[in-house]
Amino acid sequence: MEERIVSAQRQTEDDPQIEVGLRPRTFEEYVGQEKIKEKLAIYVRAAQERCEALDHVLLYGPPGLGKTTLAHIIAWELGVNIRITSGPAIERPGDLAALLTNLGHGDVLFIDEIHRLNRSVEEILYPAMEDNALDIIIGKGPGARSLRLDLPPFTMIGATVRAGLLTSPLRDRFGVIDRLEFYTPEELERIILRSAGILNMKAEKEGGTIIARASRGTPRVANRLLKRVRDYAQVKADNVITAAVAREALQMLQLDQKGLDEIDRRLLLALVEKFDGGPVGLETLAACISEEPETLEDVYEPYLMQLGLLKRTARGRMVTGETYTYLGLPQKEDPQQKLW
Ligand code: ADP
Repeated sequence: MEERIVSAQRQTEDDPQIEVGLRPRTFEEYVGQEKIKEKLAIYVRAAQERCEALDHVLLYGPPGLGKTTLAHIIAWELGVNIRITSGPAIERPGDLAALLTNLGHGDVLFIDEIHRLNRSVEEILYPAMEDNALDIIIGKGPGARSLRLDLPPFTMIGATVRAGLLTSPLRDRFGVIDRLEFYTPEELERIILRSAGILNMKAEKEGGTIIARASRGTPRVANRLLKRVRDYAQVKADNVITAAVAREALQMLQLDQKGLDEIDRRLLLALVEKFDGGPVGLETLAACISEEPETLEDVYEPYLMQLGLLKRTARGRMVTGETYTYLGLPQKEDPQQKLW
């Protein structure tokens, strides 16, 4: 399916070289998520003072909010190495065993999309996380023996969209569990102006404000929009990102002030017109915009809910009064109210 400019997921156009350049390196450079940062900074310091590995950390929340970045910062602040992998990349228990036995004392192992680990791999993790031990089976059939290897103390950092996607034995093995929140427009503006500085772009504060508001609370989207606006500024204006340039560039990308695109509008309109405002099931709604139900639920819905344009109820998804205002449609009459 076509890639959306406002997608919070990593895309082919997100040049890894540029992403790395824009990535904050220390807690100080990392904008926002103040509560999490404060807690983590204390845990990191305490672990360092005791010369111990930091407790295992689970970070969850929608994509693009800075989970990977935070894992890098934790390792940097601890002064240890970090190894990066993801749930789907670890196919067999042996792959994980190889990663674990290569860790140094206190190192960080970061597993993105940790909810996608397969069961046999996950079982290797339990003793590794709890007792720093690796249980391996040698041989097959009745002659098979189990051998326990010691591992150095290490810190596992797992990332996922929802903590509830993890099995409970895995979740229980994390000492620190934190949810990342969407960023405020002010925080996104700081991120945008910082990125503009790194990329040697001239951006006025007001230009930053407009891009920030359309960034869906997500730094990855903010950086991507900034790059598209830069192209526009270069070709159509004097290379300066002013408020007017930002507005025109976003209009050209068919985004509105809140960063909603055609697909968001189609989804909300379908809810109003085809389903009378809901409630409607997740699967049905996903089919309306040709998306996977999981993607709709974990990537697109959280931002629409944050804006108050969508509600999740026990019976399904519903629009709100604000949705009608947003779409410029007359409010639906409430049958309850009519009775009165
Ligand atoms: P996730 O792992 O949650 O999908 P990433 O950590 O890969 O998200 O972040 C995506 C991009 O957004 C990074 O390349 C980084 O440049 C930027 N970013 C994320 N969080 C912040 C932040 N708090 N401050 C500044 N930039 C950030």
